[in-house]
Amino acid sequence: MTNPSLERMADFDLTDEQREVRRTVREFAEKEILPHVERYEEEARYPLELIEKLPAMGLLGPMIPEEYGGTFSDVMTYGIICEEIARVDWVVASVISVANSLVAGAILGSGSDEQKQRFLPGIAAGELICSACLTEPGGGTDLGNMQTTATKVEGGWKIDGTKVFISHAAHAGLFFLVASVDRSKKHKGVTAFVFDPREVEGLHIGRFPMRTLKRDNLAEVHFDGAIIPEDAVIGEPGRGFPVLGSALDTGRFSVAARCVGQAQRCLDLAAPYAMEREAFGSKIGEFQMIQQKIADMVCRTEQARLLVYRLGRMKDAGVQRASLESSMAKLCASQAAVQNALDGMQVFGGYSCTQEYEIGRLLLEAKSLEFGEGTSELHNRLIAEFALGIRKQ
Ligand SMILES: Cc1cc2nc3c(=O)[nH]c(=O)nc-3n(C[C@H](O)[C@H](O)[C@H](O)COP(=O)(O)OP(=O)(O)OC[C@H]3O[C@@H](n4cnc5c(N)ncnc54)[C@H](O)[C@@H]3O)c2cc1C
Repeated sequence: MTNPSLERMADFDLTDEQREVRRTVREFAEKEILPHVERYEEEARYPLELIEKLPAMGLLGPMIPEEYGGTFSDVMTYGIICEEIARVDWVVASVISVANSLVAGAILGSGSDEQKQRFLPGIAAGELICSACLTEPGGGTDLGNMQTTATKVEGGWKIDGTKVFISHAAHAGLFFLVASVDRSKKHKGVTAFVFDPREVEGLHIGRFPMRTLKRDNLAEVHFDGAIIPEDAVIGEPGRGFPVLGSALDTGRFSVAARCVGQAQRCLDLAAPYAMEREAFGSKIGEFQMIQQKIADMVCRTEQARLLVYRLGRMKDAGVQRASLESSMAKLCASQAAVQNALDGMQVFGGYSCTQEYEIGRLLLEAKSLEFGEGTSELHNRLIAEFALGIRKQ
């Protein structure tokens, strides 16, 4: 059977502007973010001071059009930004991708003019850190079965339920929430909302206990009869899945780009170490088995990057739905990030488990990218269904 995506190849050359964006963002990330990441992790402190540096570089609105205060140029540039920031820090990259893909993506795709005017400039200016509240204690993959309910009441919507694993929630000025207006209708009851959580009573944010990414301050969010505004609905009640679908499509692209950045970082750490560390009178990088790992890391990173760049090119060429390519990019890039972290740790030997080196921290951070925006199992299933003709774009 023909792989349907073979019909949709593109070339991957970057423009001069895109190369310049890569150079400046990398320089900024290495100078302004990287030196501080370990300290925030050790102190389990949210990196607000690092995030505050992003708007001046135009890094909080790369998917937001200029008319709403953003810096949108093209999707590929957005991918390059996500890749370069993720190369130095998971959390700061997550701030950018949650804001631009999930939240701004949903508002731009399905929001009202009023929602666009009200929220997008604040996102781009860094005044509204965004959180996406999707996952529940009962599960994150089977979103059609969500327990959180939204009931229409006089002047608003009453929300009841709990969301878990919510990145940035304690610092957020904008929540993207999905809740069901009719649980018997499964995914056809799911509705998308956007609102400022700081203005809502009956909403409680607690810390979610994590073994990794302590600097993200992941939260569980309890909605206890919380009343959110009537005009918080994005699109129409019961039409939250299409809103989510288009937001996740770009979301998967940005997470895949972040995975490429993490995979690259593992290689950038392991290669020089292999040429410094000695054993049996040689650099360990001269041993074939270590060279094998380095070669695998190079190829994995580049394969993942090609899938991500092709997806970016397709989006810039105006392809509306690229679900197959999004799944392939997300699956392969997240697996590349995990395997590069594992191989990188092997190159560092026992030192990979010490505080002195970054590589050990990267393993759990990379693994977490295999869950968000669709787990590997979900993407394997989608890819197989496309290849078998069970599913169409
Ligand atoms: C660091 C981090 C940050 C996160 N940030 C956010 C956030 O900001 N907002 C948010 O809403 N969520 C967030 N999440 C949650 C994440 O999106 C979920 O973990 C993910 O959706 C999976 O849900 P789950 O963990 O409940 O796993 P489950 O849905 O319980 O799945 C468990 C396992 O079963 C597999 N599985 C499920 N169904 C099938 C099937 N039909 N066939 C085969 N296998 C299946 C899954 O692939 C997985 O391997 C974050 C997670 C992490 C780790």
